[in-house]
Amino acid sequence: MLTATDLVKQYPVRSGEGVVHALSGVSLTLGDGEILGVVGESGCGKSTLAKLLVRLEDPTSGRVELDGVDLTAARGAELRRQRRRIQMIFQDPYSSLNPRLRVGQTLSEVLAVHGLADGGRERRVGELLEMVGLSGGFAARYPHELSGGQRQRVGIARALAVEPKVLLLDEPVSALDVSVRAEIMNLLVNLRRDLGLSYVFISHDVAMVRHISDRVAVMYLGRVVEIGGWKSVLDRPEHPYTAALCQAVPAPDPTRSQPIEASVTGEVPNPAAPPSGCPFHPRCSLAEDECRRLDPALLPLRPAHEVACHVAARRATEPSAA
Ligand code: SF4
Ligand code: MG
Repeated sequence: MLTATDLVKQYPVRSGEGVVHALSGVSLTLGDGEILGVVGESGCGKSTLAKLLVRLEDPTSGRVELDGVDLTAARGAELRRQRRRIQMIFQDPYSSLNPRLRVGQTLSEVLAVHGLADGGRERRVGELLEMVGLSGGFAARYPHELSGGQRQRVGIARALAVEPKVLLLDEPVSALDVSVRAEIMNLLVNLRRDLGLSYVFISHDVAMVRHISDRVAVMYLGRVVEIGGWKSVLDRPEHPYTAALCQAVPAPDPTRSQPIEASVTGEVPNPAAPPSGCPFHPRCSLAEDECRRLDPALLPLRPAHEVACHVAARRATEPSAA
């Protein structure tokens, strides 16, 4: 239903010449009713990807299609109509809620702007609050009277007000107390089921992505380096970066050995001066000469599982070495 093709996003460097390569050719698809987890460290381009997918920003090149409609080319009324179908949930709902408006006013305003629920707005506001597990009494409250979890519920209700098909969730629980994270995650899972939604779920937290995703895309320095079914990618990673990310969290089954040993050292490189060859090579314990020269393509190494790594590609064609 949602397709991104070869998305590139570059920003000018503030201090002088050159560009920051925020995204360097990202392609992915989101199926109907599917949850695609996108995981990577901060600065890997996850949030840039989210902004391009909802058309908050235009890509430098590449395209985004929703049900076959080219969002990157949509303008005016068509863009507004398409934007309703794909809504974004932010990490900090507080910054996106007007502090001077009661919750009910915030939701009514969204309905009014989109010409929805004419005549029955109060009832619709009540329904929306109920969908996110809040009683009708919350309509009279101001954002500062809400807990973090309640504010995120209001943020979700506001997104649902326009009856979207796709939600883009950018670190939706990272700012919340650990104790309420599970509640919001469960709410999201139930809403997906009840409303037939699809999600792009963006997080730096592998455990969170593992919990909710059907498929997972691992991002590094503006690229997808591994993508596939969540179990295939997170339990049997092929890319050394994915393997290192997964080793940082407790394995669900400690008796299972990791297929590859890899470790990550150092910092994420400056995206204004990305490394030659494989962008991961300065931090990769498996790096070889070829890695410094050639940028590995994303290749299908297992059914419905693609990886961008020279060593993984070679290992896949030499099964006896395993
Ligand atoms: Fe490491 Fe080379 Fe694979 Fe890049 S291509 S992840 S440097 S082994
Ligand atoms: Mg971010």
